[in-house]
Amino acid sequence: MTDTKTAEASAPEKAANFIRNIVTDDLKNGKHTGIVTRFPPEPNGYLHIGHAKSICLNFGLALDFGGRCHLRFDDTNPTKEDIEYEDSIKENVKWLGFDWGQHMYYASNYFEQFYNYAVLLIEKGLAYVDSLSADEMRALRGTLNEPGKESPYRSRGVEENLDLFRRMRAGEFEEGSNVLRLKIDMASPNINLRDPVIYRIRKVEHHRTGDAWCIYPMYDYAHCISDAIEGITHSVCTLEFEDHRPLYDWVLDQLPVKCHPQQIEFARLNLSYTVMSKRKLLELVQEKLVDGWDDPRMPTLVGLRRRGFTPQSIVNFCETIGVGKSDSFIDMSILEESVREDLNVRAPRAMSVLRPLKLVIEGYPEGESEEFEAANHPNDPEMGTRKVPFSKTVYIERDDFQEEPAKGFFRLAPGREVRLRYAYIIRCESVVKDENGEIVEVRCSYDTGSRGGSAPDGRKIKGTIHWVSADHAVDAEVRLYDRLFSTPNPGGKNEPDYRSSINPKSIEVLSGCKLEPSLAGATLENRYQFERLGYFCLDSKDSKPEALVFNRTATLRDSWSEQKK
Ligand code: ATP
Ligand code: MG
Repeated sequence: MTDTKTAEASAPEKAANFIRNIVTDDLKNGKHTGIVTRFPPEPNGYLHIGHAKSICLNFGLALDFGGRCHLRFDDTNPTKEDIEYEDSIKENVKWLGFDWGQHMYYASNYFEQFYNYAVLLIEKGLAYVDSLSADEMRALRGTLNEPGKESPYRSRGVEENLDLFRRMRAGEFEEGSNVLRLKIDMASPNINLRDPVIYRIRKVEHHRTGDAWCIYPMYDYAHCISDAIEGITHSVCTLEFEDHRPLYDWVLDQLPVKCHPQQIEFARLNLSYTVMSKRKLLELVQEKLVDGWDDPRMPTLVGLRRRGFTPQSIVNFCETIGVGKSDSFIDMSILEESVREDLNVRAPRAMSVLRPLKLVIEGYPEGESEEFEAANHPNDPEMGTRKVPFSKTVYIERDDFQEEPAKGFFRLAPGREVRLRYAYIIRCESVVKDENGEIVEVRCSYDTGSRGGSAPDGRKIKGTIHWVSADHAVDAEVRLYDRLFSTPNPGGKNEPDYRSSINPKSIEVLSGCKLEPSLAGATLENRYQFERLGYFCLDSKDSKPEALVFNRTATLRDSWSEQKK
């Protein structure tokens, strides 16, 4: 077997899905010679894990089929959009590992074209200016079971419509006084085809076009034309747009566009124990229920990144959940497992004590120390080794000691032996308590012949615990996270408001943690497995060289499913 074959064999096979099948067929049948997809975020919020699904799908299709994927800012609604969001979106797409090359576009760059096409539709008798109020229009729209009624302005002549539309653009009318509507069919069973509004008056500044416009196109009108202008072949969107597809096709059928993309819908990602609506995420930030968009508990990409998620773990997650046509919930544990799997392979190991208890080794010479060699990864010798210093006083985890050991507790207790990982076998001889009866120190003897951790006589030692030398320890703050919400569908059935489901224990801050000295050189790019405790990374916002702050990315096991058992 050649090297390349080995590499191919070990690359994860991309699962087929119905969209890949459509693209494969289109290329095979010669419908297209290459494919062009797009990711079209509205710059009105930060990207979240649901967007990652769409990014992986659109950029992934382009990569797999040798096509290209455009990044297009769908910035047609001036009221909520901001440059801050644009910058973050670009950075996040890059962080996930995707590249739009030269192909970054703005729907707002097409405003003149949208306008000209609207004029054309008026000239063809396919659009009219309606002067009904929003309430009056709603009253005529009909329902799912009843047809709508035509507006009295529907029969305006072409010249009058052209004049009114030009004056709408010129700013002669108040907001809400006039809109431009398509003339399709007020009796259509599909409400989207009942003369949809395609332009409204909005006297607000746009973050890119300034005050050049006071009429703005609606999504259903602007999106299909943007796709056509850019020569998109497959316009992939989420299921709620299925009923909009006839409108997408209708608009493009009426216009002299060079291409008519195929809209394909897939099921959006819903994830349990979190919220993904941009409105709710914005509320969490604005009401200071979280520490900003990049709070490590947020499902945003900046949040997951600050939490310690690798881009690969997110890409793998998107591949694992697949692409389908039916809406469902994906369990949060699947996302958590994907980061565990990725970090298990790449994270170097280290020892840290989060809730320190002092342990003094009687008989170990005062003021001396020695070093033990520890592997950085149990299964990957290429990751090398490091030296871990040891001395008379070490810290162990408070809950690795029990004065009166419970049944099944095999760690340290009076009279019992445990192994200090990599170092020695020790025995607890006594404890020191403070005036409140609280244990403040454990005193142990050690087996001088057990250097490295194995008993010279081969006796069995049940417990192995981690430790950090007191003389060498690096102090740090460590933040432990749990799911932001304690119910699977926050704000869902029987829950008054999603806010009331916020998990009060979703963050725990521990100060005075003791880390092995090699972690003084920790970098933002790396994640670490603190043995027995989980995966950790430096906090990109609050950690400083003189005051380290670590975030726990994930525990070693899925504690939620263990709780359910
Ligand atoms: P809005 O209601 O503001 O339109 P949105 O979540 O659709 O919110 P967009 O910025 O329009 O936000 O989304 C960009 C792209 O990401 C769209 O193509 C959208 O379909 C896709 N997307 C958004 N949320 C999800 C999700 N949960 N799963 C999969 N794709 C998503
Ligand atoms: Mg959208």
